[in-house]
Amino acid sequence: MTYLSALKTLLDSPKRVVIVTHFKPDADALGSSLGLANLLVKKGHNVSVISPSDYPDFLAWMPGKELVLAISTRAAEQKAAELVAQAEVIFCLDFSSLKRIHEVGPMVANAKGTKIMVDHHLEPEDFAAMKKWDVASASTAQLIFDLIYELGDQHLMDANIATCLYAGLMTDTGGFRHNNTTKREFEVASELVRFGAQPSEVAKQIYDTNSLERLRLTGYALSEKLVVLSEYHTAYMTLTRAELSKFGAQTGDTEGLVNYGLSIKGIKMAVLMYDRGEEIKLSFRSLSDFDVNALARKHFEGGGHKNASGGQSKLSLEATLQKFLSILPEYKSELTRI
Ligand code: 5GP
Ligand code: MN
Repeated sequence: MTYLSALKTLLDSPKRVVIVTHFKPDADALGSSLGLANLLVKKGHNVSVISPSDYPDFLAWMPGKELVLAISTRAAEQKAAELVAQAEVIFCLDFSSLKRIHEVGPMVANAKGTKIMVDHHLEPEDFAAMKKWDVASASTAQLIFDLIYELGDQHLMDANIATCLYAGLMTDTGGFRHNNTTKREFEVASELVRFGAQPSEVAKQIYDTNSLERLRLTGYALSEKLVVLSEYHTAYMTLTRAELSKFGAQTGDTEGLVNYGLSIKGIKMAVLMYDRGEEIKLSFRSLSDFDVNALARKHFEGGGHKNASGGQSKLSLEATLQKFLSILPEYKSELTRI
């Protein structure tokens, strides 16, 4: 790896480091960022983690969360701009398109610091001086785990770092259930447990800390909003602003909803569309050879992985749904192929 010796040298002496992750970070985004942040703090660096938005409550327990600057006000955005401009080293974790960090995108694009991208999404952009990019990796968290070894810093591993990384690995494999779960993911998980991550604790914090409202929203979405299009082996749900506010929906409350559609026997693609206020957010999940990265990229300014992707639309929710329905015939033969 060519970048490694340069990165080692860079991190040899204390630096101003910024770690940026994507808008509405999930457990892999925040877990990989805080895993790395905790390590870099131990190495003597001055570290900040920038989240371009708020993040879900079920991630608010992560060790090191006081290092996170979540942009939710103009003042926070200003502070982020200063941190990015002054940073000597900028890590970009769990994203590879500057669009995914919203207003932080131009800050990173114009920054002087050395940029290092660590990611596992398809079709990365070329904005970083150094890249550790592997689509075969189920999570960014395990790429950080590997990076720690490559830097020769494994003696600094501890329970806090391991816990953050385990959270990312666990969620990006859907609790070790998705088809990205290989021997390697279990090996890394096993190492993280050896370093002190507690699987049942992490699972409890992330999966079993629902609010009653969130559970009721799930129930409502499943009983009233889930539509199955048998002809296309597709299931979808839409949620309006009014529906979300009726259940007091918080950031993260819709996470995982899309998977229910895919759990129906015979369904090959599941979609969730909801009104996020500033735009309509779409989540796509698929089985086997059906490529939702390509679909999200072509029609909804998005991307991700072959079987899990996301996108957005500036149309109304209803018009977004109509657009989605209108493109389905294009995919009919792929969706109906067994
Ligand atoms: P989710 O539906 O859970 O938001 O995202 C599913 C996967 O697609 C995640 O790996 C996420 O990082 C990725 N993803 C979500 N939205 C976008 C997007 O707009 N662009 C790209 N390239 N990836 C996305
Ligand atoms: Mn990820």
